[in-house]
Amino acid sequence: MSYKLRITAKENFRKAEILFQQGRYEEAVSYLRQSAWDSKVQYQCYALLAYCHYKGLGTPVNHYAAHMWYRHLIARKEGIETAKSMLGSEFDKISSLRVDIPTGNRYEFYDYKIGRIVLRGETGRERVQFYNDRVEVELSKSYLHYDSYQAIEMIYGLYDWHEENRRYPVLIDQSYHEDYDHYSLRIERGKGNKFTHRVEGDCYTIIVPRDIRFDQLVTREAIIIESNKLMRKAALKYLPQRLKELSERTGLKYSDCQIKKMSDCAACYYYQTKQIVITPEIITYSSRKIDAILIHELCHSLIKGHGQDFYDLILKHGGEEILRINKTFPEYNLS
Ligand SMILES: [Zn+2]
Repeated sequence: MSYKLRITAKENFRKAEILFQQGRYEEAVSYLRQSAWDSKVQYQCYALLAYCHYKGLGTPVNHYAAHMWYRHLIARKEGIETAKSMLGSEFDKISSLRVDIPTGNRYEFYDYKIGRIVLRGETGRERVQFYNDRVEVELSKSYLHYDSYQAIEMIYGLYDWHEENRRYPVLIDQSYHEDYDHYSLRIERGKGNKFTHRVEGDCYTIIVPRDIRFDQLVTREAIIIESNKLMRKAALKYLPQRLKELSERTGLKYSDCQIKKMSDCAACYYYQTKQIVITPEIITYSSRKIDAILIHELCHSLIKGHGQDFYDLILKHGGEEILRINKTFPEYNLS
């Protein structure tokens, strides 16, 4: 369900140039913003972004933003020369803009590839948070320029380096369907303007707003948010009940079962409280694999650690197949 962003800023800039020449300015601006961090193409990006904001190409006319891109440009000599050669007489017009600094610490803009972006400054921290209809970027005070590229850099940075495990979400549209052992997931375009869902037995359908674009990052992340909610619903419906059944069948006891997202562990037995905590993701596993995990945790009610006696107990209560599945789990996956 995921892949890494591999395309370089240089390739992005080439795309931007072609789109710009074709008059597809919204898309071009999006690629330019995404490439502006890279020194190999930085000045070209700054120059074109200043021009687009000045002229209102692919983005609303915004003289302050044009001025900010211009200021980035002239910070070094090679920037000025790049801009002059690209923009000609327009460069002089942009350089002589007189602008008022906007007030407030909130700036909203739209990006063709991402969707609606809300930028908030002076929050004292840096954070990217996805919602169903927007992505919010909080910037520390020093970044309050209203120029969007730090925000864009932070958004793409989520997938590139900030969080090792976060993958760029692939395109999922109405053709998507996934059938797990315990529930299935579908996507449908609705008539309203909100994300919602429909439950028919074990078939869950995410209903997306009427006019969203599946290829935008905000939509892709929103689908992940919604599918996680439904995954949790399915997990709550099946896992505690199945654990209870296995406990009754084996006579292995526990005090309480919780479904809670854990990043490093599929399930966990707490020896002191005799509590079993299970991460909802395992509801996407096969029935046998789920049983293998639950029996593993139940066996901890009698034996601490993962010695030979522990695996003997799993064999006793689960049989050959459950034991074999247990031996394929990496050490860190179950505790
Ligand atoms: Zn264990």
